[in-house]
Amino acid sequence: MAKKQFKAESKRLLDLMINSIYTHQEIFLRELISNASDAIDKLAYLALTDEKVGLNRSDFAIRLSSDEKMGVLTVSDNGIGMTKEELEENLGTIAQSGSFQFKKEMDKTDDIDVIGQFGVGFYSAFMVAEAVTVITKKYGEEQAYMWQSSGADGYTITPCEKDTVGTDVILKLKKDTEDEKYSRFLKSYELQNLVKKYSDYIRYPIKMMLEKSRVKDPEAEKPEYETYSEDETLNSMVPLWQRAKKDVSQDEYEAFYREKFFDFEKPLSVIHTAVEGAVTYKALLFIPGKAPYDFYTKEYKKGLQLYSSGVLIMENCEELLPDYFRFVRGVVDSQDLSLNISRELLQHDRQLKLIAANLEKKIRSELERMMEKDRETYEKFYEAFGLQLKYGAVSDYGAHKDAVKDLLLFWSNKENKLVSLKEYVEAMPETQKFIYYAAGENRTRLRGLPQAETLKEKGWDFLLFTDEVDGFLPQSIGKFMEKEFRNLEQDDLGLEEDEKAETSELDRPVLEFVKESLGDKVKEVRVGKSLGKHPVSLVPDAEMSFEMEKYLKRVNPDFRYESGRVLQLNPTHPVFASLRDAMENDKEKAKKYAELLYAQALLIADLPLDDPTAYTDLVCELMK
Ligand code: ADP
Repeated sequence: MAKKQFKAESKRLLDLMINSIYTHQEIFLRELISNASDAIDKLAYLALTDEKVGLNRSDFAIRLSSDEKMGVLTVSDNGIGMTKEELEENLGTIAQSGSFQFKKEMDKTDDIDVIGQFGVGFYSAFMVAEAVTVITKKYGEEQAYMWQSSGADGYTITPCEKDTVGTDVILKLKKDTEDEKYSRFLKSYELQNLVKKYSDYIRYPIKMMLEKSRVKDPEAEKPEYETYSEDETLNSMVPLWQRAKKDVSQDEYEAFYREKFFDFEKPLSVIHTAVEGAVTYKALLFIPGKAPYDFYTKEYKKGLQLYSSGVLIMENCEELLPDYFRFVRGVVDSQDLSLNISRELLQHDRQLKLIAANLEKKIRSELERMMEKDRETYEKFYEAFGLQLKYGAVSDYGAHKDAVKDLLLFWSNKENKLVSLKEYVEAMPETQKFIYYAAGENRTRLRGLPQAETLKEKGWDFLLFTDEVDGFLPQSIGKFMEKEFRNLEQDDLGLEEDEKAETSELDRPVLEFVKESLGDKVKEVRVGKSLGKHPVSLVPDAEMSFEMEKYLKRVNPDFRYESGRVLQLNPTHPVFASLRDAMENDKEKAKKYAELLYAQALLIADLPLDDPTAYTDLVCELMK
């Protein structure tokens, strides 16, 4: 019969597996058992609502059997099984599976050692087997099918006989070599050890017939032994989250996290809690160390795995996590939730809401703890997910600001490190009334702003708002510890010396002249406050900063709003005097000065020049 070819992606992975001289070959068993367990989950879930399945929870099991003479190891389950199409799809291609994730990472690193940390899926069987046969019958189907492959040259699928629903994965192990003793995977003690090591918390019994020996007749003077077989369950079946915190090691938590959530890195933090009372549940939550590649896209699905008394009822229960904590991964297990509850009902479930509210508090206090006690770890977290927290603060018109505002960090101009708003406010001298910030991507520009110098002279700090979303935070947060925010570039800085500065009658004609020469380019020309030693600045005439305007234009092409531009001049600057002088003696020259000052203000505000060439021509002309 003609062999079908593996899809190209799959073939590369398969080659990798077949040729791996890999020390963690043993993890193939974990992978096959985990697939078996997933398949049982699916049928067990069906059985809850469909009597026709005819199986109780206690009927489900995974079975290992080995035939030392034949060199064959079999992993069987009575789970959902696969149709012919599913065999084709699942085992002929690397779907959206662990294998796929794995392959992507491999393409990046080519470091074979990562296999052990990862769910690598079905193909890992080829690390130890020269041929793999899968015999499977899908629940509800009459016909069973057999999938066979000896590796990269392809596979066949043929109809076959199988009495019961489920799947047998049959491995013909590779021959032993000098270095590799594949036959060890046929020994019951080895299999027992591997199950304990990798699959102990699998929720279904992993059974195996074990050869044992006993004394034939206890009364006899000279004891004689006989051997017998007994079915034994190799795993304790207690899921990690059901165990007491003190009985679980850090390594176990980390291994569980990596395997379940397909991450190479260990989590930054583990939250393991058991709650009894108005609602009873156990939860095991993880804060990842880096954002998944799709985290800031719509593809990323937030949510926690939801179990009811050890049975998985939902892979991604979104209702358990607020958006601003959507990076958290983990499981929740509660006996209070009904097993066959529908998605729609679940959304309104009172118990679920209680759990979600409790978890939200737990996560927040864990983050607060990290921020206070372990700043280095917190900064790592913040680098990955800080943006999400900021989005949380501005989304829904700031409805969730109180949940996240204490968790935010910003770059402090004075301290040259990240500080929280609380830290900023607590360090403010008494005379400073506002939380100052400057917004924009370019830190050098922000640090060099005219107003920055004014603050620096007073020894006051300001925050660098370098993420686009930052500019929206002051509006949604409002006041922090009674202090208002002030935008360096745009707002009145509220300095006492500025209060005294009035536009003098002497300056007014100069301002009017500049406005006249610039025409519609600016809405107003006025005397600027807090400009220090700098001659000019440009500010919008409305609430919305230039940065916000730029951002909104980019995310929404239909956004048409443009705030008016206000040119601010510093009458104490020598340039102002030159301008006045030119205005009185050489109007043409004064017009050029006005153009020049306007262009400089644009540059400082990080706005494009209307006509860069004209600007440079002008500079050159005046230099001559
Ligand atoms: P993953 O388990 O990460 O999805 P695998 O390569 O291990 O990736 O398996 C691919 C797919 O094959 C699984 O998602 C599942 O649909 C199917 N599969 C594997 N083993 C079994 C099994 N024992 N019973 C039913 N389906 C299975």
